[in-house]
Amino acid sequence: MAARNRKTIFHIDVNSAFLSWSAVKRLKEDRDSVDLRTIPSAVAGDIDTRHGVITARSIPAKKYGVLTGEPVVKALTKCPELTIVKPDFATYKRYSAAMMKILKTYTSFVEQASIDEAYLDMTGTESIYTAAEDEDAFPLNVATTLKNEIRNTLGFTVNVGISTNKLLAKMASDFEKPDRIHTLYPEEVEEKLWPLPIERLYGCGEATAEKLRSLGVRTIGDAALIDEAVLQSHLGNKAGAYIVRSANGVSDTEVAQAREDAKGYSNEVTLPHDITTDTYDEEAPAVLHALCEKVAQRLAADEVYAQTIGVQIKTDRFVRHSRQMKLADSTNKTDTIYEIASLLMKRLLFGEQGVFSRNSKIRLIGVSATRLDKGLYRQMSLFDL
Ligand SMILES: [Mg+2]
Repeated sequence: MAARNRKTIFHIDVNSAFLSWSAVKRLKEDRDSVDLRTIPSAVAGDIDTRHGVITARSIPAKKYGVLTGEPVVKALTKCPELTIVKPDFATYKRYSAAMMKILKTYTSFVEQASIDEAYLDMTGTESIYTAAEDEDAFPLNVATTLKNEIRNTLGFTVNVGISTNKLLAKMASDFEKPDRIHTLYPEEVEEKLWPLPIERLYGCGEATAEKLRSLGVRTIGDAALIDEAVLQSHLGNKAGAYIVRSANGVSDTEVAQAREDAKGYSNEVTLPHDITTDTYDEEAPAVLHALCEKVAQRLAADEVYAQTIGVQIKTDRFVRHSRQMKLADSTNKTDTIYEIASLLMKRLLFGEQGVFSRNSKIRLIGVSATRLDKGLYRQMSLFDL
């Protein structure tokens, strides 16, 4: 189980973004065309005059030693058969926006860091995405679903880096590619981060790396263990402190919140006294109904519908459990949300595997509505339980 008081931050990074997006566009236009991702290929401006610079390259091109940022002429000496395509920014913007739209269905805390990168603050969502009996699955389960949804619906792959802060999540997404999920938790820093060359440290520019190497600091681990005052005397106070802190995996910048663009609603309440299996029928329905009504009102006010309804509880031992259900038709109606929430609650609490079977009492109840849409995809069919 993920330790409490820790954040869960994802960094999503499109693999060879410009090249992948160009490849997907070409395949859309002509299904028989060759997939640029499977051959040595690159995106570069100014192809005609050969003065351009490589802005993205395929993994096969990378194997030839083709580098991002190097002149096309140089890349061609390394790999004469390199296929070069022009950038297509209109397409890139479209794919970027489509990806961000998907990411925002997973959490309302999405910070777009560049055209192909975003940070997601997934803290506290385990109760929404993970079944009670399967708590250890979080957050890899959500990362897998998210990564596969992007691949299957948009046609390109991403890496997901997972950690407790943005810096480590970003470093993690840069590990082996493509289509991979990596964790880099603070307890993994020594094993996974420290062996890397110093220039791989995020925020360490080439000039700083050069200075560090001249001081004998070759790996991130070297920087983590050096006396901060020594680094500060060479790099200045701010940069010196940053390098030592970062090399130790310490970072405290927050994922910028985008509340006005919320893509999920939840409401929960701590009960005045614990509910037991005996008092459930008497006390829980009214609380649950009130929560559903609140969520429905917020959905309706924003003119959106939820495809997934979830319930959360916290026991008197402070353990959280949840259940959720994806609906055939999205909804923002109190009655429908309440009907589903009641059903989910019964499944969560009663029966052989239920929370009540473990002699627990309930201290908190919550209802969530996620996977929002504008109602465009609603079918007129009856909801099928
Ligand atoms: Mg990228």
